Amino acid sequence: MRNSQAEEIFRSFLKAGKNRITPERFEVLDAALDYDGHFGADDLYIIMKNANSRISRATVYKTLELLSHCELLSKRHFGDHITRYESSFKRQVHDHLICVDCGRIVEFADQRVKKLPADISEGLDFNFESYSFNIFARCKEPKKCKHFRDK
Ligand SMILES: [Zn+2]
Ligand SMILES: [Zn+2]
Repeated sequence: MRNSQAEEIFRSFLKAGKNRITPERFEVLDAALDYDGHFGADDLYIIMKNANSRISRATVYKTLELLSHCELLSKRHFGDHITRYESSFKRQVHDHLICVDCGRIVEFADQRVKKLPADISEGLDFNFESYSFNIFARCKEPKKCKHFRDK
């Protein structure tokens, strides 16, 4: 699915940074916005390849970085050394709780978390930019936890 509003944002961003505007970059944009959830660069590359795209792995990596700089994507680290991305286009700001047993990721938005980083920055005499916040926990309900299901 093509999203012309997101394409316009990306086009202006590329222009402003004197980056080349290529159809491949918009192909990555569309695939990334279509992805439901959190993905690594290789996940997206494989999906695009399976859909017969001629995209190169390097272009996928580079374009995902550009998309996170222009804030159409958010970059996430869930404690396993893999960089993941997710669409932040028309999405509410949220944080993540990750089950350390099964890897299940639950998204949540909590006003307390939202306010705290800006308050702390202000108190320490900084202008707030961004924050990352993950909770690592264990599913209480064994039935919901793949880790226990697979045993
Ligand atoms: Zn998320
Ligand atoms: Zn679990």
